[in-house]
Amino acid sequence: MLTDVRQVFPPIENGILKAVVVIRFPEDIFYGIKDKRIIDVMQSLPREAFVPDNLKTSAYVDGALPIGFDQTISQPSLVAYMTQLLELTGKEKVLEIGTGSGYQTAILAKLADRVYTIEIVKELHEKSKQTLESLGIINVEYKLGSGYDGWEEYAPFDRIMVTAAPPQIPPKLIEQLKENGRMVVPVGPQNQTQILKLIVKTRDGIIEKDTHYVRFVPMVE
Ligand code: SAH
Repeated sequence: MLTDVRQVFPPIENGILKAVVVIRFPEDIFYGIKDKRIIDVMQSLPREAFVPDNLKTSAYVDGALPIGFDQTISQPSLVAYMTQLLELTGKEKVLEIGTGSGYQTAILAKLADRVYTIEIVKELHEKSKQTLESLGIINVEYKLGSGYDGWEEYAPFDRIMVTAAPPQIPPKLIEQLKENGRMVVPVGPQNQTQILKLIVKTRDGIIEKDTHYVRFVPMVE
């Protein structure tokens, strides 16, 4: 494992210069990730800021962790993989469904132009906003509500990332995706294996590609 010393902000508190030693992700969790920007962003973002106090020591293990309200922060290797499927260049307007801890939101915010994120649990909606603001991430709009409706006001989106599993692809999300836009969505029944789908909207229709079997929390109606 690699260790790193990262400065804490504000760096000086009560006259004491503060820094923390953090453990970074082992490089092998990024197997298959060709976009180095994703690795750089994930290695510089403190995942411990997104997990509850009692789990901070597990923040750099490649697993999902509980964040309360029966929800989880996704596994880092899967976050990297899903982010890569979106093929972000830095200019995109991204819609995210399922803000949760805000960890995936933060990564999208650093790799795209602007992120619009929707969460259905009020406490997570509020907490994630605080976490991202404390990290100085400001190119994000937050909405409390159901992802099934998308976010009409700001549509269409260049990219859509769904981090809870609906039983079928929500039609409104397809509608709100731009032509040539990409959407990543885990689709399938609750508490069973789901399929992570990549959707590309072309002028001639929708191209749907199955990528991986996954297990996400359900996208509630
Ligand atoms: N991306 C998150 C993982 C979130 S888990 C992270 O990195 O932490 C999935 C999230 O989707 C949960 O927070 C859950 O409350 C939320 N969710 C479930 N159904 C939803 C819906 N219909 N609309 C919006 N959010 C929903």
